[in-house]
Amino acid sequence: MRKYWIVSTIVFFSLFSCNSDKKVLQPEDVIKPIYEYGYDITQFNVIKDSVRADETFSSILDKYGVSIQTIYKIDSMAVLDSIDLTTLKKDKFYTILTKQDTAETFQAFIYELNPVEYWRIDLRNSIPIVERVRKNITTKRMHASGIISGSLFQTLEDINVDPYVAIKMAEVYKYSIDFYKIQEGDKFKIIFDQQFIDDTIPYQAEKIYASYFEHKRKPFYAFGYVTDTTKNNFQYYDEEGRELKKMFLKSPIAFGRISSKYSMSRYVSIYGRLKPHLGTDFAAPIGTPITTTADGVVEESAYKGGNGNYVKVKHNNTYSTQYLHMSKRAVAKGQRVSQGQVIGYIGMTGSTTGPHVCYRFWKNGKQVDALKQKETKSDPLPAKEKSAYLAFIKPVKAELDSLGFKNMEKKKMLNDK
Ligand SMILES: [Zn+2]
Repeated sequence: MRKYWIVSTIVFFSLFSCNSDKKVLQPEDVIKPIYEYGYDITQFNVIKDSVRADETFSSILDKYGVSIQTIYKIDSMAVLDSIDLTTLKKDKFYTILTKQDTAETFQAFIYELNPVEYWRIDLRNSIPIVERVRKNITTKRMHASGIISGSLFQTLEDINVDPYVAIKMAEVYKYSIDFYKIQEGDKFKIIFDQQFIDDTIPYQAEKIYASYFEHKRKPFYAFGYVTDTTKNNFQYYDEEGRELKKMFLKSPIAFGRISSKYSMSRYVSIYGRLKPHLGTDFAAPIGTPITTTADGVVEESAYKGGNGNYVKVKHNNTYSTQYLHMSKRAVAKGQRVSQGQVIGYIGMTGSTTGPHVCYRFWKNGKQVDALKQKETKSDPLPAKEKSAYLAFIKPVKAELDSLGFKNMEKKKMLNDK
């Protein structure tokens, strides 16, 4: 999922948490308890290992002197808690705790399922404890900023910022900046949420609240905001309240090529009849998903003559889009659809000579050239929402603007800590 892309850069980077933790001083003559998985591990012998190819749960516990009767008992208890002890995987980490006595009596077994979950089997009392435990995940609001002169992605990784942040940034700007083309000297500042395991171990980056990206010296602000009308729909807007998301995607299919453009003058022949071509054809293999290029309501979903299987989506009083020659339709009339949602699949129904979708762009009841509608923007926030939005972003923008682009020295200092 965490697809890494390379963007030929090295970033001068800084990262700091907004929260500062107060350290409680311990008297030096006391052994400080160290907690892991809820145990003070200074009180046990701790064995950390990973599962080998030929090992099973019972063979591991057997090595530490746990009786076969007890293993059976643990097994039957585990099943009740939907824990399948036969699914131990090679190379997964586990921890064994034994007593600090001469017999080194077995006390507990902890198996790391994933970075946030583990199984705990505790035999300190007569009744074993068998449970699945989820570690404590906390979220902190963080800042990061940098000047790009290498790989954004690699540097995020180098300075222990979840590289996934880069993907989130690309997502924020997908309608305005081509992240494959970010270049030397581009700058960025972001305010985002970072999850931590047990308050200390960085886990994964969550949403970006606000962002500044300077691409080819042009600033792009983005502020996440939920409007009254969009309810829970978190969207990004610029510093003037224009939504970053554009109303239409450039293409109804993810990968494909334009096989025929809209043309009023160039007549195409279909079954001997000459007609202007009022759509844009995107060729792709049969079965390729076709997505609606904008939010809307399905106005028509039908089979009709030369159109074959087709879907028409009404976006507002001005625009509708229509998708022809589908092998299969995936939506029904009256259904609400959102941008990028699959509405059907590439086919060859109706009048076609090869598998493609004929994409028709309707503006005020007339078919126009979709490729010439690139500048179609989303509606700006309505006046009464805009003032609330501007008031909302004022302190966030000030916070963003106050962040400097740190130099290498600062980066080094942070690394030396
Ligand atoms: Zn066509």
